[in-house]
Amino acid sequence: MGATISDALVLFGATGDLAYKRIYPALHALARRGHFDIPLVCVARSGWGINKMRDHIRASLENHGKVDEAAFSKLSSLLHYVDGDYNEQATFDRLCQALSKAQRPLCYLAIPPSMFPAVVESLSKIGCTGGGRVVVEKPFGRDLASAQSLNQTLHKYFDEAAIFRIDHYLGKEAVQNLMYFRFANSFLEPVWNRNYVKSVQITMAESFGIEGRGRFYEEVGAVRDVVQNHLLQVIAILAMEPPVGEGSEPLRDEKAKVFRGIRPLTGRSLVRGQYRGYRSEPGVARDSQVETFAAMQIHLDSWRWEGVPFYIRTGKNMPVTATEILVTLRPPPQKVFAGTIPERPNYFRFRLGPSQVAIAIGASVKMPGTAMSGDEVELYVCKIRADEMDAYERLIGDAIKGDSTLFARQDSVELAWRIVDRIIGMETPVYEYEPGSWGPPEANEMIADVDGWHSPIAEC
Ligand code: NDP
Repeated sequence: MGATISDALVLFGATGDLAYKRIYPALHALARRGHFDIPLVCVARSGWGINKMRDHIRASLENHGKVDEAAFSKLSSLLHYVDGDYNEQATFDRLCQALSKAQRPLCYLAIPPSMFPAVVESLSKIGCTGGGRVVVEKPFGRDLASAQSLNQTLHKYFDEAAIFRIDHYLGKEAVQNLMYFRFANSFLEPVWNRNYVKSVQITMAESFGIEGRGRFYEEVGAVRDVVQNHLLQVIAILAMEPPVGEGSEPLRDEKAKVFRGIRPLTGRSLVRGQYRGYRSEPGVARDSQVETFAAMQIHLDSWRWEGVPFYIRTGKNMPVTATEILVTLRPPPQKVFAGTIPERPNYFRFRLGPSQVAIAIGASVKMPGTAMSGDEVELYVCKIRADEMDAYERLIGDAIKGDSTLFARQDSVELAWRIVDRIIGMETPVYEYEPGSWGPPEANEMIADVDGWHSPIAEC
């Protein structure tokens, strides 16, 4: 039997930044496609009232694209507003009235994690946790201990199947595409293993800095911000075995197995960097040791991947904003055309955005003429506009339907923290790098054995 559909969406943090930037545009998109038809209950302590809330939602939509009047009118007709502090039970009593007949609300906690315990406890008192679901935002904890504690808090009131931990990266079209490419093509499977793959590398680069969010970033750093969640998830998709069976759990089981197989990281497998000027940003300590760049080498203890290094690199103030994966294959066993084959081995290249999705295969072909001389070509197998459906639209739609496939499960979240916990506590050096560069030169040493980093270009 399929999951039941939520019969209301309760948005905590309705006046916050995330709601403004992501959630309202996603709800608008869902409404435009005819996929949103449940009461939307916005909860905030601003003292605004429903009209101001509606204006706020409209402003959010105007700032993030074009307003579809029919979709906005649909959202408006479904809108309710509850005012009050989340520490006060009276707020939840009013929420209970606003929910009226709803039995299975989806409660979206777009609020600071410190507020989660008070909110879920109060939700349980008004009977919203029995049939209800809860969406919690990234970051899920800041280390293993805090993630475990957060899980314990949520599990007091919600079953695991009712908890939707958002990593919006998993909802991206490009990431979906990667999974599809891996398991919808039979030609890939014979080479997708240690016998043919020499190395795998992933670069997630941003051409901008911390954009005034110094206080936030000082608490996080690159490893917590993107490695623990986005980049480990990408590794899981690249390395996992095909899921056996339908539904969300077999897939999430296979991802968890990948995390279990990641060999404990050491200080030598990590290079941290900080762009020059970071310490002068508002909210940043003058002697900050927080990394804005991280590169690391990961080994998977598995039958398929034994001996194949996985490299990840992420940074702020890099030359471009782009995420790319390069899977490099081993060279042919014999040089049949000795001296003429280009040096570069075959590869698969996946561009995951931001505005382009591409899958390319690097191959060698014969150059026209009498000599058996080779040339490198790249074959695009796919190139579409990225994120046709916004990640938040997809994820909120899935959560309403109760489909948890694209949400992180408790074991995966804790396993991922276990992996990075080992290195965030280490006092490894933080090397300075020039803004607009590819990070500190020290990061090049770890990958020298496999021909160095592949650096994405602006347009792929
Ligand atoms: P904001 O600080 O902008 O918003 C937090 C919201 O919570 C505000 O609406 C605030 O109300 C409300 N709030 C806090 N305490 C109370 C309280 N006691 N009673 C009633 N309302 C309260 O945070 P963000 O929107 O940026 O982030 C929300 C969550 O989403 C966080 O967990 C964050 O980590 C996560 N996230 C955010 C992203 C972003 O781009 N912003 C990206 C990914 C994740 P008030 O305005 O009245 O204080």
